Amino acid sequence: MSSPIWHPFTQHGLGEPIPTVVRTEGAALHTRDGRRIVDAISSWWVTTHGHRNPRIMAAIAAAAGSMDQIIFAGWSHEPAEAVAAGLLRLMPGSLTRVFFSDSGSTAVEVALKMALGYWLNRGEPRHRLLVLEHGYHGDTIGAMSVGARGVFNQAYAPLLFDVATIPFPMAGAEQATLDALEAACREGPAALIVEPLIVGAGGMLTYPAWVLAEMRAICARAGVLFIADEVMTGWGRTGTLLACEQAGVVPDILCLSKGLTGGAVPLAVTMASEPIYAAHLSEDRARMFFHSSSYTANPIACAAAVANIAIWEEEPVLARVADLAARQAARLARLSGVRNGRTLGTIAAVDLGPEGADYLSALGPRLLAFFRDRDLLLRPLGNTVYVMPPYCIDDADLDAVYAAIQAAAEMV
Ligand code: PLP
Repeated sequence: MSSPIWHPFTQHGLGEPIPTVVRTEGAALHTRDGRRIVDAISSWWVTTHGHRNPRIMAAIAAAAGSMDQIIFAGWSHEPAEAVAAGLLRLMPGSLTRVFFSDSGSTAVEVALKMALGYWLNRGEPRHRLLVLEHGYHGDTIGAMSVGARGVFNQAYAPLLFDVATIPFPMAGAEQATLDALEAACREGPAALIVEPLIVGAGGMLTYPAWVLAEMRAICARAGVLFIADEVMTGWGRTGTLLACEQAGVVPDILCLSKGLTGGAVPLAVTMASEPIYAAHLSEDRARMFFHSSSYTANPIACAAAVANIAIWEEEPVLARVADLAARQAARLARLSGVRNGRTLGTIAAVDLGPEGADYLSALGPRLLAFFRDRDLLLRPLGNTVYVMPPYCIDDADLDAVYAAIQAAAEMV
């Protein structure tokens, strides 16, 4: 019988091989059949410092020695308090409140609910959300609603709520984006949610910092809340701790997950500015923030996040990020026969083959198999091949990745 496991984003009907991983280390996954796979996409963008970072694994082991899950509604624990204190040291000063959850999608759901709660509790209910074209914020219903519509979510389209979509700021057309945002802000929406500087799952499309800064300024002038989804971009991915920093932008609400624990275990936070918290603060229980999940602020996951924060505070992480960014950019520049080469911090992307191939184009599975056969974990988005490795990847592994991309460019 085939495996009973139903894998995410996997068409089991195609019968593609599903390798079993038995060990991870640094930038590599080791499989049961003895192969060493270079994890060139950080296992879906989560692994920052490297797999099984010793400090993070030690923190997890130590935490498991004293506590498992405890309820977080009305109760607290030291690892969560240490995460919150660390985030307040690292993140922009106006983000004074930390709400825990367990995935990027839930961090986004929480952000959207906080924004709507803020307006309702102020006595000016607002429900409309503004989103950026090509955005991706997760796979729960709310997160899908604020993301791009397509084959991924067409089955659920009737359930997705209506949003106003601002055109993506394509090079040369940035003003159209800003004008559309100005106009949409006049309709009195609750919030704008964006992926800062780069839309990830939407095709690794970058846009300039000045556009992000302008979008933030327009929202501030109009009194529209600004939500930064840094689930992918946070924790050094784009060259700075937060992508927003490069634009001098401080959001009203910030979503973090993936690299929050260095990618070791699931955890997420939604950070909010004081007015958003204050709007929910009351002696009236009807105004509390109605959100939780069983595993909110899991103590073991929090211990991993504390270790990650210590790494950020004590080790030269940004220097490692800059070094990886330079090594990637140099290799990308040497590729031939590729289109739209682009880099942002540790992220590099190119387009292969004919223009306009979408996620379901036949090229995707061909490329996936091509890279898998070369012991590389690369997972193209349609015809876009991107490299987003753990910061510890060495030159030999990076060379293997780029040699395979060059070979793929010649194959298609
Ligand atoms: N937001 C962004 C920008 C993401 O890239 C992702 C996942 O890739 C999510 C949210 C959803 O995160 P999760 O898969 O942890 O639910």
